[in-house]
Order: sequence, then structure tokens, then C-alpha cells
Amino acid sequence: MISEFIPAELHSQLNAFYGDLEKITLQQIKICPFCGNDQFFVSRSRSTYTYRCKACHKYSTSATHTPFNRLIPFNWLKIIFENRIQNQSYQTIAKNLGCSLEKVMRRDHALIAYLQQHYPTLHNWYKNRQYTAISPTIKQQKQIVHDKIRQLLSAEKINCIHCSSHDTVKIGARAAYRCKSCACNFNLLGNTPLNRLPHTDLWLKFIDLLVAGYNNLQISQALQLNANTVSKWRRAWCQMMETWNCNALAIFCSHP
Ligand SMILES: [Zn+2]
Ligand SMILES: [Zn+2]
Repeated sequence: MISEFIPAELHSQLNAFYGDLEKITLQQIKICPFCGNDQFFVSRSRSTYTYRCKACHKYSTSATHTPFNRLIPFNWLKIIFENRIQNQSYQTIAKNLGCSLEKVMRRDHALIAYLQQHYPTLHNWYKNRQYTAISPTIKQQKQIVHDKIRQLLSAEKINCIHCSSHDTVKIGARAAYRCKSCACNFNLLGNTPLNRLPHTDLWLKFIDLLVAGYNNLQISQALQLNANTVSKWRRAWCQMMETWNCNALAIFCSHP
């Protein structure tokens, strides 16, 4: 029984949460989420039931207004939740479900968002458990990002992006260079979200805090950065992670 993995004081939240998931999975709705009316036209395409309210004419599904909107098949949600509680890695779950790692992570993040909204105590327990068992992929991708940042900020000799000459010099602390052969300046971070992102000395630490699951407020306190800056940085880094093909890490870090 999955409940054996979960502290007894959380069982009532767990049962209520399972009740919610079951309603979503069965795809039945009793009242329109927009106007509260209870008369619908029902249509079905593949395995999804769509309800059209007879009063306000809006369309809805059992997951409308939840983080699970469009994350079909809905029965995966409970499977992923229970597998994560048993410390299965995202990779193992993806393999068992026959889907991509990103699909599993997206659903897990929706689960976390839903729990945060409705069952805060269960949410805290679930999230802490996640961080004690960070998957190998996340660790590996974090290493890739670390290496890229170090390379970008420390490399002295970079081939010119225009003429491939080795004869380049670094300008300042950022990833900007001047080529002595063709006299061009180039910036390795130009056209990336990191262009003009200040405080390069905090970048590695920032990534560590993201992976450790710190929220924006905690990061802003730890690094003495303004809260708006932290949320901008989080978005910029998640985009950059995607550019570097670290999609799993990007999804993992995207949840504030
Ligand atoms: Zn309605
Ligand atoms: Zn050049």
C-alpha cells in the first residue's frame, strides 16, 4: 500500500487528493467551472471528454482550471505520484510509461503545483522527498550547465566566430572577445538570455540554489538579489538550459 510510505498525519490530505485525481481521471464534471450550471453537451475525441455548458457555452474538461489541463492521459498522474514516492527516477517512470522524460517531469511539476495550492502539508512532504532523491539526469545536466558557465566565464582563448582565428583576447569578465586577425568583437552570450545578465560571480551559486529547490524568496535572501531579479534570472536560466539541451533540468528548475 502506498499509504505506508506516507506519514499517518498526512493520510486525510492524501485521501482527499486521491479523490480529486479520481474525478479528473474519470473525466466527469458536475458543474460548469465557469458559471456553475449543471447542463452540458458532451463530446468525445479519442479519450478526452469535452463538456460544453448549455448556459454559458464555454468548453471545459475535468481538468479545466487545474495544472493538469491537457495533461492526458490523466491516469498517469497517480502512477507518477506513487512512483516518485517510491523514489523511482524520472527515467524509470518514463521507460515504464513509454513516454519522454519531459512528459513525466511536466506532470510531476503539475502535481507539485496542485498540492501546493490545495494540500500544503502534503506538498511540503512530497517536495522534500523529491530533493533527497534527485535523479541522475538532473545531476548530470547540472554538471553540464556548470561546465558551460565555467567555460564561458574563464576561457581565455576562443576561436573567432567570424574568421576562426586563434588570435583573440578576452574583453572584461564577460564572454566578450576581440579578434586580432579580423578586428571584430564578438560575444559568446550575444542573442542568449544571459546577455547582459549581471553578477557573473553568482551564476554557479544561483544554479545550485535552483537545483536545491529554493524558491525565489529564499534565493533573493541567500544571494542578496532583488526578488524581481531572481524571477527574471530563473526564466533566463531555464531558457538557457533548454538551449543547451538540458530540458529535464529546465523543467525541474522552472517551478518557483
Ligand atoms: Zn457555464
Ligand atoms: Zn576574426
